[in-house]
Amino acid sequence: MTAVETTNYAAFLDALTRRGHLLPSGERGLYGRGTEFERVRNRVDDLITRISAADRAEQPRFPPVMPRKTLETSGYLGSFPQLCGTVFSFQGKDAAAIDLAARAGRGEDWSSGLSITGVVLVPAACYPSYPAIAARGPLPEGGVKLDLGPCYVFRNEPSDDPARMQAFHQRELVRIGDVDEVLAWRETWKVRAAEIFELVGLNAEFDLASDAFFGRGGKLMANSQREQRLKFEALVFIASPEPTAVASFNFHQDHFGAAFGIQFQNGATASSACVGFGLERITLALFRAHGMELRAWPKGVRTALSLDQ
Ligand code: ZN
Repeated sequence: MTAVETTNYAAFLDALTRRGHLLPSGERGLYGRGTEFERVRNRVDDLITRISAADRAEQPRFPPVMPRKTLETSGYLGSFPQLCGTVFSFQGKDAAAIDLAARAGRGEDWSSGLSITGVVLVPAACYPSYPAIAARGPLPEGGVKLDLGPCYVFRNEPSDDPARMQAFHQRELVRIGDVDEVLAWRETWKVRAAEIFELVGLNAEFDLASDAFFGRGGKLMANSQREQRLKFEALVFIASPEPTAVASFNFHQDHFGAAFGIQFQNGATASSACVGFGLERITLALFRAHGMELRAWPKGVRTALSLDQ
């Protein structure tokens, strides 16, 4: 990290903290959020709801933890083991419990007293939806559209960049169907997202992107993802010298359809795509673009977010 970046992160975080928008926890990338920050975040979410109404999507909701099996089946551990969050808990007897608490009390390592449970933190909001759709049986003609609402997700990537949080809300929309349906839906959402960012006065650029795949094979996977145009991002300036992704538009081909067994009546494996809006990042971008005082934001932005009501 360069000195310039550090200065940017620290100055922006300091301004957010002093105004009560973010409440630092002492752990990097983990914040409470103040009243006004939450107001904006929820209004951004409401705006996405309005823009997405035409889809008439189903609106299932999932908790921020999911079965460990879902993570294993999804292939996430092969691509992003460094980002996963797995829940461990204590299953021992009295003496071991006393030892565990004593170690923790002395600030020592107490992880050896724990064992893995059946649940993990959700790393991307769409993951729990695939086994749920597969469990219904064959996919209907025309596929399905899902609006998963604002979902807490976890990424193990502690950072000084206030825009890179460990726990944050993704607003994800998912399309499962045949290739043409899924790709057309993703294009529609790129247009809708451009409209959303224009309404709130954010200068977003759209670009091809790749994920932060782990390890030596990661670079190859990222190149292949770009070549096949699987991932696009909307980028906005927040705290880094480079613009930060605030939304992504992902075509999974038949990866999740094959992994979770989502098929049409004729046995063909379904394709899928998801669109994810990073609600905290968009909120941070708004404070960066329009200032720390909500009442001084441009009228058009206040109207688009219904902030005067
Ligand atoms: Zn997704």
